[in-house]
Amino acid sequence: MNRKPNILLFYTGGTIGMMRSSQTGSLKPFNFDKLLRKIPEIKLLDCSVETISLHPPIDSSNMCPQHWIAIAEIIESNYGKFDGFVVLHGSDTMSYTSSALSFMFENLGKPIVFTGSQLPIGDLRTDAKENLITAIQIAGLQKNGEAVIQEVCLYFEYRLYRANRTTKINAEQFQAFASLNYPPLAESGVHLKVFEESLLKRDKSKPLNVHKELDTRVGLLKIFPGIRPDFIKHFLSTPQLKGLVLETFGSGNAPSDDWFVDILERHIKSGLIIVNVTQCSGGSVAMGQYETSERLKQIGLISGNDITTESALAKMMLLLPKYKNAKDFKINFEKAVCGDISEN
Ligand code: ASP
Repeated sequence: MNRKPNILLFYTGGTIGMMRSSQTGSLKPFNFDKLLRKIPEIKLLDCSVETISLHPPIDSSNMCPQHWIAIAEIIESNYGKFDGFVVLHGSDTMSYTSSALSFMFENLGKPIVFTGSQLPIGDLRTDAKENLITAIQIAGLQKNGEAVIQEVCLYFEYRLYRANRTTKINAEQFQAFASLNYPPLAESGVHLKVFEESLLKRDKSKPLNVHKELDTRVGLLKIFPGIRPDFIKHFLSTPQLKGLVLETFGSGNAPSDDWFVDILERHIKSGLIIVNVTQCSGGSVAMGQYETSERLKQIGLISGNDITTESALAKMMLLLPKYKNAKDFKINFEKAVCGDISEN
């Protein structure tokens, strides 16, 4: 490509564009166009950047699947016009939104890079400038006339990750995200190094297909020592519950008490889909490795292997409308849709 890449910068909210309220001192989303004037460096980049905002911009704790769909629709309707997309998003739920987008955009041929910051862009010590500028550069990378990165990713503190492999691990340090089960896709130092062997390879013969149907009748339950039967019974009696992501100990272990296994079995028999993910940030579920997970396997829990909780939840919402029977759901959940899970 001889012309400069066109990048769409989409501000959805989050600390990066927040201002401190003079009355309470708390941070709230602000008009991003005004804040962008604080980074004249954007004009020096070797790409043209157009900006757009969510109205109103929000703290990412208020993000929900309707917003994911709104973000997807903006990108979809601008897909032909731009070479890459940068989504500015609060870090709190960035891994959820970006994971969901990775499942929504099937056969993506252009980069969608999520970024944000721990300090507002107007702060003297801000981490926003580096994150924003490098994210735009990454979104503009081209080789032989096509985008180098053709997947949904997350850039934070000198590292580019596959979005659906990330988790927010720190609310204080600039290095807020980790991807413990998949290596970074790129690193920014003196040079910007892209690790091509880690990038998702796309089947170029297939066109982009954006999935916007999500089933939110799902739940997330983290087990803990001392969890009580009445608590689980109550939780699982949520009307219309279709799917549950169960966060278990270590490599997928849970209490082996009969009452616990029996409740889960009863719900699976009446149609509930349960995916077993680990509470650990790294490593994977291996049902059957210990006696405390053997019965979970027997009663039909699906192994989340090394998927993150954020990704499991988003994947469940997107697969539920497509695969109505438990067997099809299991086969497709255990397969990598976009590099989200290792296949055994
Ligand atoms: N509460 C903010 C948000 O997620 C935190 C951040 O942006 O880092 O919107």
